[in-house]
Amino acid sequence: MDKQRDFVLRTIEERGVKFVRLWFTDVVGTLKSVAIAPAEVEGAFTEGIGFDGSAIEGLTRTYESDLLAYPDPTTFQTLPWRGDIDPTARMFCDITTPDGEPAVADPRNVLKRTLARAADRGFTFYTHPEIEFYLLKSSKFGPEGPQPVDSAGYFDNVPGGTAHDFRRRSVRMLEDLGISVEFSHHEAGPGQNEIDLRYADALTTADNIMTFRTVIKEVAIEQGVYATFMPKPFSQFPGSGMHTHLSLFEGDANAFYEAGSQYQLSKIGRHFIAGLLRHAHEISAVTNQFVNSYKRLWGGDEAPSFICWGHNNRSALVRVPLYKPNKGQSARVEYRAIDSAANPYLAFSLLLAAGMKGIEEEYELPAEAEDDVWALTDSERRALGYHPLPASLDHAIEYMENSELVAETLGEQVFNYVLANKRAEWRDYRTQVTPFELQRNLEIL
Ligand code: GLU
Ligand code: MG
Ligand code: MG
Repeated sequence: MDKQRDFVLRTIEERGVKFVRLWFTDVVGTLKSVAIAPAEVEGAFTEGIGFDGSAIEGLTRTYESDLLAYPDPTTFQTLPWRGDIDPTARMFCDITTPDGEPAVADPRNVLKRTLARAADRGFTFYTHPEIEFYLLKSSKFGPEGPQPVDSAGYFDNVPGGTAHDFRRRSVRMLEDLGISVEFSHHEAGPGQNEIDLRYADALTTADNIMTFRTVIKEVAIEQGVYATFMPKPFSQFPGSGMHTHLSLFEGDANAFYEAGSQYQLSKIGRHFIAGLLRHAHEISAVTNQFVNSYKRLWGGDEAPSFICWGHNNRSALVRVPLYKPNKGQSARVEYRAIDSAANPYLAFSLLLAAGMKGIEEEYELPAEAEDDVWALTDSERRALGYHPLPASLDHAIEYMENSELVAETLGEQVFNYVLANKRAEWRDYRTQVTPFELQRNLEIL
């Protein structure tokens, strides 16, 4: 740690860094930033930087508002979009109470706690997100609704198009920030794009997702367009999911891999999937945290709606992709419900906790879904045991309220805060009279 701190202090000096932004994330997943002068950094490492936690969504109860942010020197990077003149750098922070205890409501700490529990059982958790988002001409729009920057589709190569330059610039910036990108392409919706980050341990990935969202927003501003991670901005086009590939390692060995078994999937892998399936509806208010998230899940276009798993089955909630026998290290499962607007720290914590529960309790994996689950009738799905994901945020809240797994994993404070925040969103939503109702009802009633 000391070596890393020294490295940071030396780099600040050598590169003439003028501002250091300290980053952390509130409970709903918004990035928070405070800039400090280079001279303050050494003190920040040893004594932290004080701030009023009660002003940050969900971080404290008002009567214990003083918190400290301690920068994590391993996350030091200069911000490419701020340029080389008077460079700006950033570090992610861990939040503590004034007596040095990790703040129970710091989402980064919730994930660290959950990872430590898995580590006690010998597992390291890796994640690899496929992040989808829309590029719009502007965040402002008239009666015709938001305007995408192009009308291209899946994997389209648009000569001279905005999206090309956009992805090129964003990927370059991400690489400069030490974030490896595996794929980038145009997605199915007009103006919709996807960028997939290379797999990394879940804490690094969650930090990378927070950085990613900032990079995408910054590049959009630079190019005169607007980027949104809203789960379903258009009813007629696909939503933006954040399918996440999950794997557990025991030392150097991928614990999901077993040569010769069905789909090369180990017993641990099977129990893990069973855990994801059993708890999917309880974790939904976190993996899909907005009213709008459920418009994606129920809006078709390859978003999952039913709780089942399959091998290469894109209609299933959990997909086991094909991995070659000599590529056992790449064994993984893809969770397809989570969307691009989730708080990655909390969502990864719950995905891991659900999978670990499956392993600990040796949950039995139900039979795989071989059919196109959307094409079945309701009664066929019922007979096969493919239960629906929550239909809306209020259903998801109800499941979460009764979930021991979610309460235990998030801790009482975050659990209560998320529920209160989501209940308030639902209360506001249900009083709205929507264009749908006006169009459908006004003239005939
Ligand atoms: N956009 C789809 C979703 O909402 C995913 C499309 C894909 O398979 O990449 O989940
Ligand atoms: Mg995609
Ligand atoms: Mg996918």
